[in-house]
Amino acid sequence: MTAPLIDPFQRAISYLRVSVTDRCDFRCVYCMSENMTFLPKKELLTLEELDRMCSTFVRMGVEKLRITGGEPLVRKGIMTFFNAMTRHLDSGDLKELTLTTNGSQLERFADDLYAAGVRRVNISLDTLDEKKFADITRWGRLPQVIRGIDAAQRAGLRVKINTVALKGFNENELFALVDWCKSRDMDLTFIEVMPMGDIGNEDRLDQYWKLSDLRKDLAQRYTLTELSERTGGPARYVRLEETGQKIGFITPLTHNFCESCNRVRLTCTGELYLCLGQEDMADLRAPLRNNPGDDAPLEAAIRQAITLKPEGHDFDYSRQTVDGRVSRHMSHTGG
Ligand code: SAM
Ligand code: SF4
Repeated sequence: MTAPLIDPFQRAISYLRVSVTDRCDFRCVYCMSENMTFLPKKELLTLEELDRMCSTFVRMGVEKLRITGGEPLVRKGIMTFFNAMTRHLDSGDLKELTLTTNGSQLERFADDLYAAGVRRVNISLDTLDEKKFADITRWGRLPQVIRGIDAAQRAGLRVKINTVALKGFNENELFALVDWCKSRDMDLTFIEVMPMGDIGNEDRLDQYWKLSDLRKDLAQRYTLTELSERTGGPARYVRLEETGQKIGFITPLTHNFCESCNRVRLTCTGELYLCLGQEDMADLRAPLRNNPGDDAPLEAAIRQAITLKPEGHDFDYSRQTVDGRVSRHMSHTGG
């Protein structure tokens, strides 16, 4: 192991999110345009390069890896990569290997993921209505995702549902989603829609359902107890006293959670983003590709990159404009 990664604000970087592809089998309206152009294959890190990159981060103190995308499970051969990461779990250097997925391929992969050492998955799902699901994902089919969730639970994976809160879309499903997660023993986290990428004429402001409003709605039926639990990430949690459920809120726009941020994000082309809401990034692919067999230049580039980590992001809807917008798509940095 080498010296841990500490950023200029004394935050230890122990969590790496890795986008393994920019491709997806869905086209969620808040994430992608209908006609996305995807990267040519040679731009992507190969599975071997992803292994080398992640292994270097683990050596430098990263204890949690979250695999994301695009849709991570549509990356060809992705189980080879998951299986390669198992050795870091076995050694104890890596404490958790996990993924965020739209669930469409879980029926196929859930058992293999469990065998590779994955114990928890985040599955994104915004509605329980088949028609609305088809509308919001453009290409997705709800029954396939439900089968994926069934398979994940059967395999022994703990499931958390991530729901983007969308005004005029899933406001009326708040209690249905809460009840459904309770009935299946799944955690639930709501996410505020963020101003990412140029995705056509969908208007972020029109879709913006403030989570403080969502909380008030929840409080009409349940007693909410604030939990002190922090994961170093943006989520804040409450317990619904009547059911014992834990509900998360990711509120980049109404709360500043940056002071305890422990994470950085690697894109599928090897760019390291230091903050989801800022443009600061460093290219790690060149030091990796130009030095086969020697990780020292890559380690130096990672250390240098961490010195660029900004104090926080600047998303702001408060002046009724989408300030602090970043131009890249969420599928580029993986959310
Ligand atoms: N395809 C996988 C999935 O959907 O779970 C992983 C990648 S996806 C980019 C990661 C997360 O980002 C999903 O939960 C998705 O809902 C969320 N997301 C995408 N665009 C967003 C936006 N504009 N605002 C807030 N969340 C967004
Ligand atoms: Fe694909 Fe996930 Fe983006 Fe939806 S949110 S288009 S499933 S990457």
